[in-house]
Amino acid sequence: MSEEKKVAIKKIQATGLMRKLMADYFYELDKASKEGSPKVAWCTSVGPAELLLSLGFLVYYPENHGAMLGATRAANNYIPVANAIGYSPDICSYLTSDVGAFIKKETPLSLAYKGIEGVPKPDVLVYNTNQCRDVQEWFSWYSRELKVPAMGIYTYRNIGKIENYHLESIVSQMKDMIPPLEEISGQKFDIDKLRHFLSLSYECTQLWKKILETNTATPAPMSFFDATIHMGPAVVLRGNSQAVEYYKVLLKELEDRVANKEGAVEGERFRLYWEGMPIWGKLRALAEFFIGLKTAVIASTYCNSWIFEAFDPEDPFMSMARAYTEIFIVRDENFKEKYIEKMVLEYKLDGLLFHDAKTCPANSNNRYGMPERLEKKLNIPALTINGDLNDMRCYSEEQAKTNIEAFIEQLEAR
Ligand code: SF4
Repeated sequence: MSEEKKVAIKKIQATGLMRKLMADYFYELDKASKEGSPKVAWCTSVGPAELLLSLGFLVYYPENHGAMLGATRAANNYIPVANAIGYSPDICSYLTSDVGAFIKKETPLSLAYKGIEGVPKPDVLVYNTNQCRDVQEWFSWYSRELKVPAMGIYTYRNIGKIENYHLESIVSQMKDMIPPLEEISGQKFDIDKLRHFLSLSYECTQLWKKILETNTATPAPMSFFDATIHMGPAVVLRGNSQAVEYYKVLLKELEDRVANKEGAVEGERFRLYWEGMPIWGKLRALAEFFIGLKTAVIASTYCNSWIFEAFDPEDPFMSMARAYTEIFIVRDENFKEKYIEKMVLEYKLDGLLFHDAKTCPANSNNRYGMPERLEKKLNIPALTINGDLNDMRCYSEEQAKTNIEAFIEQLEAR
């Protein structure tokens, strides 16, 4: 392996504002949890958050907590704790690290935010199986442990064309949730409130899309590794006006970078796609490594997963059903390949990186021949990196770096 040069990640100025936003969000949840009001709903990241907000719940996302456990490299302290109660090391390591941390009564929130002692107590747990089965098992564990009701939306998966019967099923499942949710929240459902939150979510999602699309410029102003951090508000604060205001600030900063031809990677030589989950515990190391190689990882399925184009306040239920069904993870291989092909053209990409995350088959798209098919079809190389989102025992840094360097040499040779 070649000697690594010292490199610095370019700071995004809006980061301070984002940190404040995230702190406010967690303190508000903590206060509600301690005072018992407003009620707190836990929701999966692509679950019906807008419905919950419209019923007066504050919404907490355990996957975000899972990502924090990964990013702070604490996950491996907790995964064995969940393994010890029968949750396999092969299942989602967000689930196992989050459950393990809960059993040990520890959370990175306490280290980041003074006065917060634990995750907010849920009054209800709401999941959508559009992404995987694990979220149901994850919320079911908490439901049994905390004696809190869990309810879910069961989405068709591996869908090519989206049919009306797919959406109608989800609409009726969402509507069926309303009476029990009203009972828990103590608030009556109001369709105008739902429209209000949906329109804020739509605005947030549109800004997030524009932010990601600034990377179609050469050089690209933001790396995938930056984007995984700055997507925090799009994940936990959609439906909230502060997220909209934040993304206006971030967008302006990135547009200025584009105007000044200021790239996230100095002397950008190659542009790559990241398919699959981030390796949370290695974000910084990978960001620096790619900067050293003058290679910009600038587009991804993961960050694009919080673009919900279909949201329409005029048709709230149907449009939510569509938005949460048309995302990449729900779709079949043909759809996914066409999606990546479009990204390659729009972002002028030179190669594809596939992350095979050991504990997340739902987000590892290298397993059924897709990299090989895309290499042939698009005439660009693809590399699979073996690793995991949180379980660092599945990731060999040395091996990954050697493979990436060889991949870059392959690009140079072309
Ligand atoms: S999609 Fe993957 S990372 Fe997300 S909850 Fe499911 S198994 Fe875990």
